[in-house]
Amino acid sequence: MHSKVKMLPVIMLNDVSRSYGVKESKVEALKNVNLEVFSGEFLALCGPSGSGKSTLLNILAGIDKPNSGTVILFRKLLNQLQEKELAAIRSHYLGFIFQSFNLIPVLNAFDNVYYPLILNGHISKSEAKERAAHYLSSVGLADMGYRKPGQLSGGQQQRVAIARALAHKPQLIVADEPTGNLDQVTGESIIELLVDINRRNGTTLVISTHSLQLKARAQRVVEICDGEMTYDSAQ
Ligand code: ADP
Ligand code: MG
Repeated sequence: MHSKVKMLPVIMLNDVSRSYGVKESKVEALKNVNLEVFSGEFLALCGPSGSGKSTLLNILAGIDKPNSGTVILFRKLLNQLQEKELAAIRSHYLGFIFQSFNLIPVLNAFDNVYYPLILNGHISKSEAKERAAHYLSSVGLADMGYRKPGQLSGGQQQRVAIARALAHKPQLIVADEPTGNLDQVTGESIIELLVDINRRNGTTLVISTHSLQLKARAQRVVEICDGEMTYDSAQ
C-alpha cells in the first residue's frame, strides 16, 4: 500500500439505516452505519449470516437505497440519483462479483466478458474482443473461452465473473462472499487472484466473507453484527 493513495475516500456512508418489512415483521438490516473506504484499500467485511453484509454492499454499490443516511460513491451523492444515473456510475467505476457468479448460461465464457463491454457502449467491438481475451487470460482461462458456464467448475465460473468485472477496468471491486460457493483450495486461488489485483492495479476491494483466509489477507477488517458495525481494524 502506498500511503499517498489513501487520502481519498471512494465510499462514504453516513448514518445509513435500512429495514425490510413493517410492524412485527420489520427487520432492521442496517442500523446507523458509518464507513469510509479509501482508494486502494482491501477491506474484508465479516459477520455471521444475516448480519447485514449483502445489504451493506448493495447500498454502497448503489444497487439498493437506504431508508435514511447518505451514500457517497466517487464523490457523487447517490441518494437523489435516478436508476439511469446510478447504472452509469456503476458501469463506470464499479465491478460487482456475486457469490453465485451470475454468469449468463447460454453465453460462453468469452461472451460473458465480451457482451457487457459492448453493452456499456464506450468501447469498440475490436477493443472489447481484445479486452475479453486479455482478462480471461489474466484469470488463467485463456483456453476456456468457448466453454459455457455449465461446462466450467465453480472456481472457473468465478474466475470468469472476475474477468468480467476487471474488463471494465473498475476503480472499485465489490464482492459478496466470492468464495462462499467454492471449496477451500479453489477459494484460496480466488483470494490470491483478488490480492494480486489489489496489489498490482491499486483497485479498491470491498469483500464480504466468512473465509478466515480472506480475512487474514485483507488489509482492513470490518465486522458487522445484527446490522451494527462492531469492529473496524482501521479505528
Ligand atoms: P448477510 O448478507 O450478512 O447474510 P443480509 O444483508 O442478506 O445479511 O440480511 C440482513 C437481514 O435482512 C437478515 O435478517 C435478512 O433476513 C434480512 N433481509 C435481507 N434481504 C431481505 C429482503 N429482501 N426482505 C426481507 N428481509 C431481508
Ligand atoms: Mg449475504
